[in-house]
Amino acid sequence: MRDNRTAELATVHSEIVGCTRCELHKSRKNAVPGEGPTDAKVMFVGEGPGQNEDEQGRPFVGAAGKLLTELLGSIGLSRSDVFITNIVKCRPPNNRAPRKSEIETCNPYLMSQIRLIKPQIVCALGTPAIATLLGEEYSATRVHGKPQVKENVTILPMYHPAAALYDASLKEVLASDFRILKELLEAKATLDKPVKDNDHDHAQGRQTLEKWV
Ligand code: URA
Repeated sequence: MRDNRTAELATVHSEIVGCTRCELHKSRKNAVPGEGPTDAKVMFVGEGPGQNEDEQGRPFVGAAGKLLTELLGSIGLSRSDVFITNIVKCRPPNNRAPRKSEIETCNPYLMSQIRLIKPQIVCALGTPAIATLLGEEYSATRVHGKPQVKENVTILPMYHPAAALYDASLKEVLASDFRILKELLEAKATLDKPVKDNDHDHAQGRQTLEKWV
């Protein structure tokens, strides 16, 4: 089953690499499908590749990526534990924001990645990713750190790490939202274990999830 999924994900990624569905393919050096284990429990979704990512074909390898790596470390995770991707897989020229039509055209790739990887939690980084996954009325300012459940997927909205590079006060906000991610993962891990009689851990895990989701 897992091997099937790995093969299907590889197929999706080779489609992305050869994709010509929107204008962005004309100016890209490399498409950036995303990277991480096929069975990752956590997926991060950013806005789109920047210059470094376009050059290397890998997500979050610039300054924002360095902060993302640090934030992961702060909750005991490393990049190799998580799957990292974006709402658009090719760099918008001159770092402009991706257009609505580009996001919509690229969206089936993201939906396939979520369907195949089945992460326990999808962290949406920044308003474009949050609005793509949850709807136009959602923004980082309004819902960061508040997990939402949509079609059985738990989505944890967060500020984009790049925002914290411009506004240092957002760094602590991000760090605090990462602690919520840690709590959610611990609660889900507890609930995955078999129930024992008078299981205090299970009750605690359920309580944590009920508090957030
Ligand atoms: N910012 C993003 O949103 N994605 C990347 O891959 C890198 C920077």
